[in-house]
Amino acid sequence: MSLLVQKFGGTSVGSVERIKEVAKRISNSKALGHELVIVVSAMGHTTDELTTLAQEISKNPPQRELDMLLATGEQVSIALLSIALHELGVQSISMTGSQVGIVTESSHGRARILEVRTDRLEALLKDGNVVVVAGFQGTSLSSRGTSEITTLGRGGSDTSAVALATALRADACEIYTDVPGVLTTDPRKVTDAQLMRTLSCNEMLELASLGAAVLHPRAVELARNYGVKLVVRSSWGNDPGTTLTSKNVRSLGREGLELGKPIDGLELIEAQAVLGLSHVPDKPGIAADLFETLSNGGVNVDLIIQSTHEGNSNDITFTVADIELSNARNLCESVLKKIGGKLTTQNNMAKLSISGAGIMGRPGIAAKFFETLSRSGINLRLIATSEVKVSCVIDAKFGAKGLRAVSEAFELGDNQIISNTEIEGIGEPEVRGIALDPDQAQVSVRNVPDNPGTAASLCSALADGGISLDGIVQSERQQEDGSRDISFTLKKKDRLHAGKVLSPLLSKWPKAQLIDGPSIARVSAVGAGMPATAGTAGRMFRALADAEINIAMIATSEIRTSCVVAEADGVAALQAVHKHFKLGEPNEVNN
Ligand code: ADP
Ligand code: ASP
Ligand code: MG
Repeated sequence: MSLLVQKFGGTSVGSVERIKEVAKRISNSKALGHELVIVVSAMGHTTDELTTLAQEISKNPPQRELDMLLATGEQVSIALLSIALHELGVQSISMTGSQVGIVTESSHGRARILEVRTDRLEALLKDGNVVVVAGFQGTSLSSRGTSEITTLGRGGSDTSAVALATALRADACEIYTDVPGVLTTDPRKVTDAQLMRTLSCNEMLELASLGAAVLHPRAVELARNYGVKLVVRSSWGNDPGTTLTSKNVRSLGREGLELGKPIDGLELIEAQAVLGLSHVPDKPGIAADLFETLSNGGVNVDLIIQSTHEGNSNDITFTVADIELSNARNLCESVLKKIGGKLTTQNNMAKLSISGAGIMGRPGIAAKFFETLSRSGINLRLIATSEVKVSCVIDAKFGAKGLRAVSEAFELGDNQIISNTEIEGIGEPEVRGIALDPDQAQVSVRNVPDNPGTAASLCSALADGGISLDGIVQSERQQEDGSRDISFTLKKKDRLHAGKVLSPLLSKWPKAQLIDGPSIARVSAVGAGMPATAGTAGRMFRALADAEINIAMIATSEIRTSCVVAEADGVAALQAVHKHFKLGEPNEVNN
């Protein structure tokens, strides 16, 4: 007998017929002797429909009232499902988030779960009930001491399910949905997407935060941190689906469930070199030629950044190990001879990275990392951000100082700090999945001062406004007065608010200007084996070049490579990269 938390998404409970099917499935599991906690979403598109109703009345409805409204969606499905279970003779009881003891922060619309009070649940389970819980919602204590209904953010029922599984120490949390599991990409956009039998939580976190909507990133974060066995399966069949795996498991602490320390590692890698190419032509194939030449010449490139510029030229910056610098320099010069552009190199650099889960979802973390370094007077040569890691390339002479300051700021113990480790991901596939995020906007701040603290203050201002950057790129090119440009991508819905929160800061930099880029989409490849495989990025750029798609921005992190392309090219870019890495073909890892 196992204790299982099973979650059924909106499509799976989208009609009375489907609710009856789900009830049958639950009844069968119950007959096998399992103790069951069921989490359900609102039926079909209910949450969208309720949001539209509110918007028909107000462009800016109060978040408290929106939560009150949206939470009704899940309340309908728990009651109907429990009625269907009774009809099959299964003893069950439905519970709202508040009744079941899901306590959250008070921030409406995106509340994090602090605690699940399990006493009532446990008593109900002991009495033989199937407990049917409303996903996506919880309760918080307001400053006046009254309880308030909160919601967790769109897609948040997955997070409710994993939080319940964590608190109950369930044997597994099963997410039942309208696809067979986690696939190599969204099957609605690429028809030959393949199922992955297993996937690491870190890979899933990257994919989920880069646009793979199959799981809420915060659900994966909880599973990763607390070692919950998380399975994604189809609601319609009995196939095993995808099991997520996690290495870093912590015990359930006294700190809030979703607020536990998000950063759990700090790493310094020395003997790095930076190569910066500026004024290279802005047309398809340039990045592909460059990185193919490097990989054919035996150079393993680590971080790559490409930023956009006025006019029709780009800057591309990347890092290699110091010992590879002279080889890389010669290869770059051979490419520049053909295409034009300028090369600068720097050795004796170091890469300092913090790692954890949920970094992008908590905009304050990257800001705190950058601020800590800038307060120590350390300039950031390059920045790479992702859901599981933020890295800065700095002058190696500041490596030890930076390491100390950051470990203090994030209160990390000695066992969480590592230096100059072996490359990770040996033997793992270089690319497992591809994600497309069409909801991105690109913004540049031109003419910002080139000194410690510039990137930090930009990130902090946005973080204070609750806005996450999805990538931040500092230009290679300097203006005559020494200023640079910083470009970043953020969620489209945050663009207006970003302008407001940045304006006090920009008024301090006399020449700074906020410029909107064209409409964009971001396509990203993710794979745990990427750091250990030479040439992955070059192959991705080649796939796009062959499809005649221009790359506006490039940002890589350890296990992902992202390219920003024109919005209209998004789906074609996804298909081209998926095909190039042969992900549409059944392969050994998955079969
Ligand atoms: P639910 O209502 O069950 O929570 P969602 O719509 O939130 O379902 O998530 C399932 C959908 O996620 C699928 O229908 C699919 O279109 C989309 N999706 C995006 N990327 C992936 C992927 N890599 N693997 C599987 N599904 C994906
Ligand atoms: N019903 C909510 C939504 O549509 C939560 C969920 O489905 O996970 O976002
Ligand atoms: Mg979902």
